[in-house]
Amino acid sequence: MNGEHKITSGHRARTALVYLRQSTLMQVREHTQSTLRQYALADTAVALGWAPRDVEVIDRDLGLSGTSAAHRAGFRELMSRVCLGEVGAVLGLEISRLGRSNADLARLAEMARLTGTLLIDSDGVYDLADFNDWLVLGLKSTMSQAELHIMAGRLQAAKRAAAERGELRAPLPVGLVYDDDAMVVTDPDAEVRAAVADIFACFAAAGSAYGVVAAFAGRKFPQRAYGGAWAGQLRWAPLTHHRVLQVLKNPAYAGAYVYGRCVTRKKIDADGNVRTVTADLPRAQWPVLIKDHHPGYVSWEEYLAIEARLAANHTAAGARPVREGTALCQGIIICGGCGAPMAANYHGDDRASYECHSHRDGKKTPGCRSITAHAVDDAVAGALLAALTPEQVVLALAAAGEVTSQHQRTSRAAELAVERARYEADRAERAFAQVEPENRLVARTLEARWEAKLAALADAEQALAAAQDALPPLPDRASLAKLAADLPALWHAPTTTPRDRKRLLRTLIADVTLLPEANRAKARIGIRWHTGAADEIAIDRPRPTGVPAPTPTPATQLIRELGPVTSNNDLVAILAQRGYLTGAGRPFDIKAVQWVRHAYQIPSPSPYRGTEISVAEAARRLGCSPGVVYYWTETGQLDARRSPGGKLCIPWTPATEADCRARITSSGHLNPAARRTRPRQHR
Ligand SMILES: [Zn+2]
Repeated sequence: MNGEHKITSGHRARTALVYLRQSTLMQVREHTQSTLRQYALADTAVALGWAPRDVEVIDRDLGLSGTSAAHRAGFRELMSRVCLGEVGAVLGLEISRLGRSNADLARLAEMARLTGTLLIDSDGVYDLADFNDWLVLGLKSTMSQAELHIMAGRLQAAKRAAAERGELRAPLPVGLVYDDDAMVVTDPDAEVRAAVADIFACFAAAGSAYGVVAAFAGRKFPQRAYGGAWAGQLRWAPLTHHRVLQVLKNPAYAGAYVYGRCVTRKKIDADGNVRTVTADLPRAQWPVLIKDHHPGYVSWEEYLAIEARLAANHTAAGARPVREGTALCQGIIICGGCGAPMAANYHGDDRASYECHSHRDGKKTPGCRSITAHAVDDAVAGALLAALTPEQVVLALAAAGEVTSQHQRTSRAAELAVERARYEADRAERAFAQVEPENRLVARTLEARWEAKLAALADAEQALAAAQDALPPLPDRASLAKLAADLPALWHAPTTTPRDRKRLLRTLIADVTLLPEANRAKARIGIRWHTGAADEIAIDRPRPTGVPAPTPTPATQLIRELGPVTSNNDLVAILAQRGYLTGAGRPFDIKAVQWVRHAYQIPSPSPYRGTEISVAEAARRLGCSPGVVYYWTETGQLDARRSPGGKLCIPWTPATEADCRARITSSGHLNPAARRTRPRQHR
């Protein structure tokens, strides 16, 4: 070997490290020759005079790219051992490729120079303390970098050119495959095709990716594996939200060929490690987009519509999608005072209100209001039902057709699963039939396999039967048409969910505004239709619960006249006699009379007779708190009577007052002076 004379006994007394590196797992799997050659370096070290026990192999970096040392634990170990000075030589297949970045290699070379460590590759031995060797290694490292750059550049240019022709082959998403002529076609497997098509159909019906996941409950979705031991195999797994989004967002399903949808960028994290992150590019920046490149599952227009729908579902970005609650205008109602969206708040028992929350960020205006949801909803729904035209009824019928096809899809998927199971059972049977009867061991295995396939077929058939049974009967089109003709009934039908109503509302109405209104008993609602037309509805604001309607004047008049001298009980009787009703149309009761008294400040007749006074008055005269007087009446120290209205009436005489005063004087609690005259306890 070149420069073998540079190896001294000092080097041989230290460890010889063989550093193994292979860029990707695929290289490790496919280029086993290179790996074998790398392991053979250990023998080279022994041949160069190291004792076998002093030769160590660092192969933790097999399958990790050499472009940066960040994740390469093996390279870090190599560096630290070299720094400690315990390494006599580092062996690699090609030293200039130990680290793919010049910086890594320069650091290793510098440390090797300081610690007198030799670097050995198939070309020879480098002693970094020797200027010549140091220069050669530096040159080789620079060359390696340049080579990498040129290679990558050529590859990229060739890839880009092929991509622009739409001929660069990339792994296809499940549901699309390359045919024998390398053309992209839909998967020949009908079950796979049905599953992919159903994702798009379910999204059209449910309107959200989570809705698709729910529709696929209990049903599996295919996935085609690329690379590795599973390459090309089809695996079925439960459908996840992430997977639905992947399918919906993939332009390949719209028949488009796209190159460069994602870019990788280098990022330096807090620890100074370089990491590669993948980011999606906006469509306008895709380097290659060829529409109608191959047959797809949706049209390009549908793809764009799906994208818009997904964006509208994205609440974090400010979108306000339809929610489950009963408040119809949730998400589309705006405060006319400040222009901010109003929130739908639910207060137990599903009563909702629309509230302007601008006060939270200090943007509240005098025109900002909140309102009970049903007041707005009733008015808006009324306007909507009045505005629905026969064309929109046709649309509703189309939606009903969608429901029907969804039913068919569900059982179609089960049918396809049965077909697949039957095919596999047939195949297992044929394999069993072909085996020589003498070959019992093989025959037994094949028989077991056949039986397993038959069991799977039975399961699939059972699932199909269950799927067909589980489908609720569909209303026929005639009765649907009748229903649609009577839209108000359909609208109010218990089977119509709030979500359905909201969807229908949003198809026609762009937004609803609670306009500022000076009269607090009224509300004005602005409706902006998608057609661009605008309507304004004035409604009476519903009174907050607990506040009765204004009482008609004759009854008020009567209560005003008789109130100061008549008890509430008597007033109720008199009002009933004359047949007066409250503003809400109910007979007067004590509560209603009390409300009128409160509203018009009509005093009640005095409950006190003769010398009787109230608790408050007694407390005032004695100069103590009312609580003391109450305590006395409760403990029987002071006589008192309850009036029919529940008030305490205390018969008050000079003698009573004298008694009370004596009680206060003797009480240490009530009379601080009395407390002070007591002899102090001395210890
Ligand atoms: Zn507001």
